Amino acid sequence: MEEALRLLEKLSTSYAPPGGEDAVAEIIKGFLEEYAGSVERDVMGNLIVRIGSGGPRVMLAAHMDEVAMMVSWIDEEGYLSFAPLGGLDARVLVGQRVVVHSERGPLEGCIGAKPPHITTQEEAKRAPELKELHIDIGASSREEAEAAGVKVGSYATFPAHFARLLGTRVMGKAFDDRVGCVVAALVARAAAAEEVGVELHAVFTVQEEVGLRGAATAVNSVNPEYAIVLEGTVAADTPGVPEQSRITRLGRGAALRLMDSSMITNRRFYSLLVRAAERAGVGYQSQIVFGSATDAGRIHLHGRGVATGVVGVPCRYLHSPHLVLDLRDLEAAYKLTLEALRLISQQA
Ligand SMILES: [Zn+2]
Repeated sequence: MEEALRLLEKLSTSYAPPGGEDAVAEIIKGFLEEYAGSVERDVMGNLIVRIGSGGPRVMLAAHMDEVAMMVSWIDEEGYLSFAPLGGLDARVLVGQRVVVHSERGPLEGCIGAKPPHITTQEEAKRAPELKELHIDIGASSREEAEAAGVKVGSYATFPAHFARLLGTRVMGKAFDDRVGCVVAALVARAAAAEEVGVELHAVFTVQEEVGLRGAATAVNSVNPEYAIVLEGTVAADTPGVPEQSRITRLGRGAALRLMDSSMITNRRFYSLLVRAAERAGVGYQSQIVFGSATDAGRIHLHGRGVATGVVGVPCRYLHSPHLVLDLRDLEAAYKLTLEALRLISQQA
């Protein structure tokens, strides 16, 4: 687990806004290259690593991108307006530190919160809208911001941080979906070492957060028979969540998705994943997430249909700057997925 921890730290403290995933792609490529039969980046930017040949064609997919922002306007006084890239909640953004990725390097900044002293009663009662927020990088004019390399189109992200919390828990940004990238990379390497008997395509997709876009093209390159999507998924075990909604909790194992807004999981393939969990001796949690979609939504509709499942590592506080996960769930997802590949190879 030490190695998984180090890889998670390295990947989650790198930046990969949708459409700008190169830094993360390079790290994963460096990690897997020596085990790969082929490594390619397609036009969209998806990283596709093939391992092994012969046996059923299996796609592992994890998305590299993270929720982020794009500068859409620089005003006279040097404030930056931005467009959201992915599902950002204005309530979470207010008062946060951000990094603006300018042409001349990263710049510190914040999404300023209006102090209570000048907030009207009306404003205090409602959450702000995204378009009312701005990033402050300390510039006092548009010229000064531009001279620092900020342009319309510059990305902004949450700043990198990584910390071990109590027990087996860690906190950081972008675990959605760098934790999936870690699981996919470790499974791919293990599959290469034991020659697991499938033609494995480990795919690290782009632009998932803005609408599952990378997966839509990557699946054409791979043309899989089976697919497993690895996701940092919602953990619903925080105070205030009603009992019947708290179906995924930290430390209880990998989440196996039955249904979300983009897919109803093929029941036979779901059963295979459950069998894999049992054989691997790891916990799993059946999950239904109404308001959520994953790359599986695109992948399972490819061609004449692809048997697709989603294996998740529960994370608290998704799409915020600080996520919390339990390393035992990461390990469960890894063992489950590797065992699933063995079962798929036996089916052939
Ligand atoms: Zn995700």
